[in-house]
Amino acid sequence: MGMTNILISGASVAGPALAWWLRRYGFRPTVVERAPALRAGGYKVDIRGAALDVVDRMGLLEQVRRHDTGMRLARFVDAEGAQLATMDAQLFGGREGDDAEIMRGDLARILAAATDDVEYVFGDSIAAMTPIAEGVEVAFERGSRRTFDLVIGADGLHSNVRRLAFGPESSHLRHLGHHIAIFTVPAEFGVPRTELMHPAPGRTVGVYRTAGAQDAKTLFLFPSPQGGPDHRDVAGQKALLAEAFAGVGWQVPRLLDAMWDAPDFYLDSMSQVRMDRWSAGRIGLVGDAAYGASPASGQGTSLSLVGAYVLATSLATAGGDPAAGFADYERRMRPFVEANQQLAERNLKGMVLRSAAQIRFQVLMLRLMPHLPGRERMIRRVTEPIRKAATAITLPDAAAIAS
Ligand SMILES: Cc1cc2nc3c(=O)[nH]c(=O)nc-3n(C[C@H](O)[C@H](O)[C@H](O)COP(=O)(O)OP(=O)(O)OC[C@H]3O[C@@H](n4cnc5c(N)ncnc54)[C@H](O)[C@@H]3O)c2cc1C
Repeated sequence: MGMTNILISGASVAGPALAWWLRRYGFRPTVVERAPALRAGGYKVDIRGAALDVVDRMGLLEQVRRHDTGMRLARFVDAEGAQLATMDAQLFGGREGDDAEIMRGDLARILAAATDDVEYVFGDSIAAMTPIAEGVEVAFERGSRRTFDLVIGADGLHSNVRRLAFGPESSHLRHLGHHIAIFTVPAEFGVPRTELMHPAPGRTVGVYRTAGAQDAKTLFLFPSPQGGPDHRDVAGQKALLAEAFAGVGWQVPRLLDAMWDAPDFYLDSMSQVRMDRWSAGRIGLVGDAAYGASPASGQGTSLSLVGAYVLATSLATAGGDPAAGFADYERRMRPFVEANQQLAERNLKGMVLRSAAQIRFQVLMLRLMPHLPGRERMIRRVTEPIRKAATAITLPDAAAIAS
């Protein structure tokens, strides 16, 4: 059985990282991306634990460090903009030690540049897949047809490959009860290297500006029933956000005004992907498409990077047998995925506080923290579960595999 030619759907984090490792092991990957060019936009993402190790093994760690967001401070403000409390940005993001924070767009650019010898097809998408004797026949939306040995979906939370091969997304998405919105706003809304956060009962809004950025990003979190507008209905999403934050103080009315002109408005449910299997025959999934952990976990990017490495390594050691490769990938990744998905619900409780009393308590704790005798223990209570989950995998050894 051969499996040299591998089609990957999606060119964000998981797709290019998988392509990098497949090339390294002697496979011939092709990446198809629906967007007309590499999507540069995005928010900041954390890379920690085993994922740092993977990036290091790719020789890209120094580049990632050069693009660190350089955030310094989180500052909590009230409805009038007055400071309530401050906190170190590393601790606010649940980072410690060598953990990195980078804009998703910068990471995507680094990964794409590192795979410039891989065939990328932009502005196209898989329309249909038909399993054939020793491969998959793929029909593309723009009309071409090609045959591949394997197809891997790295196309995110609303994965096209998952829908085509495993059925409707409603059977795989688990809504965590909140929506998230994020978009770019003019720089004057933010303070350099600072996260401004305004907690209102049941709703949280923040603005951050990274080191050297020409603009700022704003982020909204709010509770929501299952469903909500379709993830492609931008007008409906904007109306939902405006309604959810009506009456909230601080700079929220001006941020909502800026929303109508935002070049990159994003709104989606905070959802996780839960699946019994990440492969069916010669079709597999990686990254958010397989085991999206939601932005609340802070671990989606790390899961994608580790998953790409483990999948490529499992396929490379499977002796040409895709079923054996996919089985090895699942066995190694499942406990790691479960540990990281578990972080999300706990984190969400701290990100959106339900009542004014809870907000007052959190502010009081933040103000007292520098003076409390148990400070180190309290900090460990925040960082320890994240560190444990982020390192809950033993990476297979790539060095043993001939390229
Ligand atoms: C607001 C927000 C904040 C986040 N914050 C963090 C954080 O702090 N830390 C963290 O670790 N993670 C965070 N994440 C999650 C992180 O960005 C993702 O987990 C990670 O990017 C997953 O990468 P991926 O490559 O699997 O999927 P995605 O980044 O979703 O990429 C999927 C790619 O597939 C493409 N695509 C979609 N459909 C098709 C199709 N039909 N055909 C071809 N291509 C297609 C898309 O255009 C996209 O390029 C956040 C996510 C969001 C939305």
